[in-house]
Amino acid sequence: MSNTAIVGINWGDEGKGRMVDLLTRDFDIVVRYQGGGNAGHTVINEYGKFALHLLPSGLFTKGVVNILGNGVAVDPESLVTEIEAVQAQGVAITPENLKISERASLVMPWHKDLDELEEQRLKDKKYGSTKQGIAPFYSDKYQKKTILAGELFYPEELLAHLEGILEWKNLTLTKVYGAKPYTMDDIKKWLNDYCEKIKPYICDTRSFLRDSQKEGKSILFEAQLGSLRDLDEGIYPYTTSSNTSASYAPVGSGCPSAKLDNILGIVKAYSTCVGEGPFVSEMFGEEADLLRENGAEYGAKTGRPRRVGALDIVATRYGVEVQAATEIALTKLDVLSYMDKIPVCVRYLCGGKEYTEFPFPTLLSKCTPEIIYLDGWKEDISKVTKWEDLPEAAQKYIEFIEENINCPITYVSVGPERDSIIYRKKAE
Ligand code: GDP
Repeated sequence: MSNTAIVGINWGDEGKGRMVDLLTRDFDIVVRYQGGGNAGHTVINEYGKFALHLLPSGLFTKGVVNILGNGVAVDPESLVTEIEAVQAQGVAITPENLKISERASLVMPWHKDLDELEEQRLKDKKYGSTKQGIAPFYSDKYQKKTILAGELFYPEELLAHLEGILEWKNLTLTKVYGAKPYTMDDIKKWLNDYCEKIKPYICDTRSFLRDSQKEGKSILFEAQLGSLRDLDEGIYPYTTSSNTSASYAPVGSGCPSAKLDNILGIVKAYSTCVGEGPFVSEMFGEEADLLRENGAEYGAKTGRPRRVGALDIVATRYGVEVQAATEIALTKLDVLSYMDKIPVCVRYLCGGKEYTEFPFPTLLSKCTPEIIYLDGWKEDISKVTKWEDLPEAAQKYIEFIEENINCPITYVSVGPERDSIIYRKKAE
């Protein structure tokens, strides 16, 4: 039995989904432990291409049990839509291979409205929310003003609970934002249209995980976003509203006794960042357009063009530390094949000082990057599956990163397909 967390080292979108899809066959259970439908994990396999938002990426592997843990923002409406879309592509989703924690809190219809209303109020000071209701949801969860999935099995108590929450929430909707209030009829319709459909999947996943651990089964923890979006360790306030770090996995999955034997951090061969916030190694103009096009860097959920930049050693080293990563998968190396010289940010400069340690968030917007250039390889590497077949310049690029982030790079991904991967694990 060996438990592994697959986590993002940077701003998210590093390619976690493709690594989970690749490695799931070695695990019995895949658990998502934080976040919600606000980002997307893209997976390409024999069933087709999928942008998974809430569903764990282990669904495509037969025999694997997929769990949405208590730390996840479960949006019944989005989940039903996603389940139906994935089923329509021929993937079986049943209560046998998908289980939702009865202790997961539910994203309510007003959470999305509040995201939208708040971004409108902020105008040009907005955070670039994906408007999936994530920040209002987590605020309410910590205020204890939402409902648990398991409450759906107790209709009488549920309606009384919802009436109380509704009264409170309508005050914010109408008095703060001047928006339309919700009625209990709206909520009953929502319960009927969406919550009834997810009920078959809701169960006591805590006991299931505990017993599975006793039986020696292995768990893969699948994170959303990356270190720099972690609520506590990231670029606050441009973080997400949950903990993206591996150390939260046992808590957010509802299996506090689970030990992480391995933490696989995913690093993209260059940087991307969605939404607002400081991004020191950002590229602009033609250079950025070229990288964005070559990397197809458009949001999986929103289609928004992603901001792109040079690989950032300062941020990546910090991300590795925050995740306590034990090994790294470097993804999208093939995307850089068009470059003559590969830019890498090795240091930040701010107020006459040099920073090799990731600075306090307030300083970030004042930092400029110190960029060095490594040799490019200018040949197609997308079919390479062995380290020794990689051009020397590509090997040197990987080794340079490895030395500077203090963590071994054990996988190199050279394409989005499952098998476009170079294994670099040292023999045990
Ligand atoms: P995630 O949220 O971390 O799973 O990442 P995303 O799914 O948002 O972004 C990763 C994107 O890159 C997806 O479209 C993947 O299919 C694609 N991808 C992943 N690994 C590679 C790779 O090595 N090369 C190329 N060209 N694309 C990749």
